[in-house]
Amino acid sequence: MSSVTVENVSKQYYPPLGSSATRPVSGLVNVSLKIKDGETVSVVGPSGCGKSTLLKVIAGLESADSGRILYDKVDVTNSSPQARGVGMVFQDYALYPSKEGEDNLSYYFEVRKKTEAEKQQRLKEVADLMGIGFDLLMGRQVDTLSGGEKQRVGIARCIVRDPNVFLMDEPISNLDAKLRERTRTEIKRLLKKFGITALYVTHDQQEAIFMGDRIAVMRTGQVVQFGTFDELYYSPVDLFVATLIGTPPMNVLSAEVQGQSLWIEDVEMSLPLAPELVEKLPAGKLRLGVRPEGWLMNQTPTGGISVAVTRVERLFTERAAFLGGQSGRLFVNALVALDFPAEVKQVFLTPDWMQAHFFAADTETAILAPGVPDLF
Ligand code: ADP
Repeated sequence: MSSVTVENVSKQYYPPLGSSATRPVSGLVNVSLKIKDGETVSVVGPSGCGKSTLLKVIAGLESADSGRILYDKVDVTNSSPQARGVGMVFQDYALYPSKEGEDNLSYYFEVRKKTEAEKQQRLKEVADLMGIGFDLLMGRQVDTLSGGEKQRVGIARCIVRDPNVFLMDEPISNLDAKLRERTRTEIKRLLKKFGITALYVTHDQQEAIFMGDRIAVMRTGQVVQFGTFDELYYSPVDLFVATLIGTPPMNVLSAEVQGQSLWIEDVEMSLPLAPELVEKLPAGKLRLGVRPEGWLMNQTPTGGISVAVTRVERLFTERAAFLGGQSGRLFVNALVALDFPAEVKQVFLTPDWMQAHFFAADTETAILAPGVPDLF
């Protein structure tokens, strides 16, 4: 396995001759990132932000207009996908449906003219490592396999080839919810077991967090932030990342620093700021970001934003519940205990200033973030 370095890569798509479009579309704008040897990097962002283009440029399926791609220290910018030795798994399985699982795996050896002994040895190694029940899948015809089983065969097919890099584009998005969870656990186990360097493209932040050792957040062809989940969660570089990462999303309030206080426009009230913050925050308008767990909550009117409770959603699997509420124009999400009493219809919320995020009102870049807690 190799490390992968993407260095200042840009890519534009030009409209086909004769089309009414005149301007090229930016696929990637000066993207740089490094996937370490054995690391899984998730790429997340809204549809059309350039995730698949990044994967294709790393694979060699699309060429970069400028910049370089290195596998370890080797410049592969102008190499074919075959020469780069990439394994790819896409949403549609791209297996040969009328062949048995094993034939799907061994096709490669036939094309590469490997000996029967070499083929059998590698297939056995992979089948052993793939775990329980895999040998049974190998004997079955692909079109009789379930979606999750097909993906397992698809992944095994990549692994037998011993690729330098593994690239996955929404590999499980057409499986049902339960199977998706099982399959992603399985994929992660295999990536770690084989020490595979991988790029995992998804539009689903939960999946990106689960799969990636680090996560690259993309927007309009650019990587806006690249880091661990904790870095993205506690130190997002801007409001886009802050609201993309985290469920329910961060509460965002329009506010204005006025001396020692913060005027909250949405609810037209002023809250006293913690003294440490008064020193650090610029006067004037900004955006206040409060994560659902970042509120201090009272059930008696001791100051704070008065919120009418509209719903409480209990997540038994996570031993937590989220309260949804409204205060004037403002909708609020707050983390509460699983046994939050059903009869409580009003709460009073104040931001826990030590957990609060602040963003510039115009550019939406971060002014102040709590940072990753020492606890971790
Ligand atoms: P994502 O995977 O994040 O949904 P893509 O990488 O597929 O985004 O696309 C990035 C941008 O490039 C989009 O605006 C898309 O419309 C455009 N694009 C992608 N592929 C092509 C193509 N072959 N021809 C023209 N435009 C393309």
